[in-house]
Amino acid sequence: MECADPTVSSQSFDDPGFKPLGRGSITMDDTFVPDERVLAAPGRGFGQVMAEFDLSRTLIALTCVGSAQRALDSAASYATQRTSFGRPLATNQGVSFPIAEHTTYLAAVRALAYQTIGLRMAGQPHTTQAAMLKWWAPRVAFAAIQESVVLHGQVGWSDEMPLQSLLRDVSGYQIGDGTPQIQKIIIARDVLGRDALGA
Ligand SMILES: Cc1cc2nc3c(=O)[nH]c(=O)nc-3n(C[C@H](O)[C@H](O)[C@H](O)COP(=O)(O)OP(=O)(O)OC[C@H]3O[C@@H](n4cnc5c(N)ncnc54)[C@H](O)[C@@H]3O)c2cc1C
Repeated sequence: MECADPTVSSQSFDDPGFKPLGRGSITMDDTFVPDERVLAAPGRGFGQVMAEFDLSRTLIALTCVGSAQRALDSAASYATQRTSFGRPLATNQGVSFPIAEHTTYLAAVRALAYQTIGLRMAGQPHTTQAAMLKWWAPRVAFAAIQESVVLHGQVGWSDEMPLQSLLRDVSGYQIGDGTPQIQKIIIARDVLGRDALGA
């Protein structure tokens, strides 16, 4: 996208995921911002943006859970419809137990996300819970989708199914809005105190 102001430039990224949306960056180099376009009081912008991360991290967790639930629902449907040796795949515990396990993990992430949203709506602190969700949910979702690929056999791995696309999207959510390491620093600061961490 071209901008009339030569101090503003943009760049598109060639990402493996989020294909319908796309991703890119905007660079402002010595750009003049008139008073009526200033969004936050000078010096307050960073804090204002950071406050919204508690919400966006929680919503990312729920997005990941939704992607993983879609994959698991598809795996459950395939396992009940596809037969081998005269029986549905689901009659094998090697197929039904992973679906049961990942359903459990998703329920746990969902419960923490709802608790976090409840804290936010009550005006209570929820930075630590949002950080927990941000590192944990994409990992849980990635594992559930990965297992769903295997439970679909070759068709699950193929681009005929949406599972590869879900995997790539969820893998991006591990990084966007803060990496697992940074989230664990936030949690550890809360649990142990900044002084104990030496930061
Ligand atoms: C899908 C996606 C969407 C994104 N959306 C946005 C967006 O909307 N806006 C935006 O501004 N950015 C966005 N990003 C960028 C994202 O926020 C950064 O990529 C991320 O914060 C990591 O920064 P970095 O890439 O510079 O990694 P680096 O800083 O180079 O870090 C590399 C690795 O080292 C680890 N690391 C770094 N410092 C420490 C430390 N002190 N202790 C322990 N580990 C450390 C990191 O956790 C990471 O694993 C997005 C990225 C992705 C993948």
